[in-house]
Amino acid sequence: MNNKIKKAYKLMEKCELCPRRCGVNRLKGQIGFCKAGLLPMVSSFHAHFGEEPPISGHNGSGTIFFTHCSLRCVFCQNHPISQLGSGKEVSVEELAGMMLKLEAEGCHNINFVTLTHYMPQVLEAVFIAREKGLKAPLVYNCGGYESMEALGILDGIIDIYMPDMKYSDNMSAKKYSNAPDYFEINKIAVREMYRQAGDLKIERGIAKKGILIRHLVLPENLAGSQKIFEFIANELSPDTYVNIMAQYYPCHLANKFPEIDRRINVREYMEAIRLAEKAGLKNGFRQVMSTIKRKRVPEWTDNLKEL
Ligand code: SF4
Repeated sequence: MNNKIKKAYKLMEKCELCPRRCGVNRLKGQIGFCKAGLLPMVSSFHAHFGEEPPISGHNGSGTIFFTHCSLRCVFCQNHPISQLGSGKEVSVEELAGMMLKLEAEGCHNINFVTLTHYMPQVLEAVFIAREKGLKAPLVYNCGGYESMEALGILDGIIDIYMPDMKYSDNMSAKKYSNAPDYFEINKIAVREMYRQAGDLKIERGIAKKGILIRHLVLPENLAGSQKIFEFIANELSPDTYVNIMAQYYPCHLANKFPEIDRRINVREYMEAIRLAEKAGLKNGFRQVMSTIKRKRVPEWTDNLKEL
């Protein structure tokens, strides 16, 4: 077996696939914080047209949604999948087959959504799929709460990193995602992703390599957007692509927290855009104002300064 795959599975023995380092033996079926077992669980896989324009392109992003999550966000919009275990166990061979099917359908990339806790199995499946001819770029789409050991193994394997930067305020990270060290861990992980992949390279409208960061604006600036934008501009590059998302709405357990039991308003969103521009960020995506006002599907622009 390839050395990287062996090293990856080793991380499951006393599980340290993510910064929680539960220490459970996942290889023997023990379950940690994320509730993931030995076999990967997939909730769905299909061509997805709702990602950022260079990720979805014309033919869609070949998205594979994994069950469970190492974060536990009270407002998670996918909570049936991430926290309630909706999905089906699959073998690594079946997982490789999904990738090949998505590529055969014309998808521009293979987009692994929340794979952190299944990294070794996904890696093994990628090797099987590559041997069978898979060529599409691989997208690591995650909550940004990642371990350096796991990311190190993925160096040279992942083409496009799409991490969240959810909070610069660890009080919020603790309260809403049960991750009191989120910002420190997140910054280290995102730096490593940038080191591996660099700025986003887009050819004929399609992303080929690089990093694209997502930031969800929360009510009352509870995410601490300013520090996140300053980190990206100053410590990565002002050219980093950032998607500043307005789509927050209170679902799952958010109604237990009055301060986040509402959508964001136009003022809050425009303030986040202003802070991104002030920090010097030049590239990215913002949702048009009508999205917030009319609460409908987002539209996109690919230059923060254009609207
Ligand atoms: S991947 Fe799951 S079991 Fe492993 S350390 Fe993280 S939360 Fe714990």
